[in-house]
Amino acid sequence: MGVGISILGSGSSGNSIVLHSGNEALMIDAGFSRAETLRRLSCLGISPSIVKALVLSHEHGDHCKGARVFADSLDMQAFATSQTAKELMRKNLLPGRISLFEAGSDFEAAGFRVRTFQVPHDATETVGFVVSSGEVSIGIATDLGYVTALCEQRLRGCSAIIIEANHDVRMQMNSDRNPNLIRRVLGRNGHLSNDSAAEALERILTERTKVLILVHLSRDCNDYEIVEKTMRRKLADMKREDILLEIATDAPLPTVHI
Ligand SMILES: [Zn+2]
Ligand SMILES: [Zn+2]
Repeated sequence: MGVGISILGSGSSGNSIVLHSGNEALMIDAGFSRAETLRRLSCLGISPSIVKALVLSHEHGDHCKGARVFADSLDMQAFATSQTAKELMRKNLLPGRISLFEAGSDFEAAGFRVRTFQVPHDATETVGFVVSSGEVSIGIATDLGYVTALCEQRLRGCSAIIIEANHDVRMQMNSDRNPNLIRRVLGRNGHLSNDSAAEALERILTERTKVLILVHLSRDCNDYEIVEKTMRRKLADMKREDILLEIATDAPLPTVHI
């Protein structure tokens, strides 16, 4: 059975992904309020009752704002590393039914196999995921300063790859943002630039990869057209125009089936 990939929205105002197979769904991150999450699910025709589990990547608000209220309202099982759980507890965002996992470990959630791996980012501990169901695997790395060898290894050959294309380096450097913020975003524990994401594709895409979804675009320091142009050019260079390319924004992205 195939998997549906629905991005409820992506960017600094909130991030949440739903993967569904049959009548079970797994949510990755809950960066919108409960009401907003429900509105976005309804927009995409997904019944909240099929969402059986929530997996959290790190404690930043744009990934966890709705975690406790949304998960608890549906009596949902949530998963986080102990470091992330500790931070969420401090922020009063920790869901009641929480299962702790170690970065690098695997577990089952909502009928999916979830493989986790650590990525460099300025939270206490940030993880990426490879979520699989049968032959289909979805690699997810949404907040990371750079693509490590481990991240490359995990994402390589996934059927679908969801990766951050946060900013255009020139727009970032010329922005009127606080110099400390610019340094933070561009740093090894910040966010992935369009060029770094494009370059990583050379090592991540294989003939098994059918779908590429770029996420977490910066509102001030990126531009949809730049991302599209950069990625289409890279896919053309790699003779991989057969790959379905999608770019997620603040608005829900229509479900991609794989
Ligand atoms: Zn983050
Ligand atoms: Zn984020």
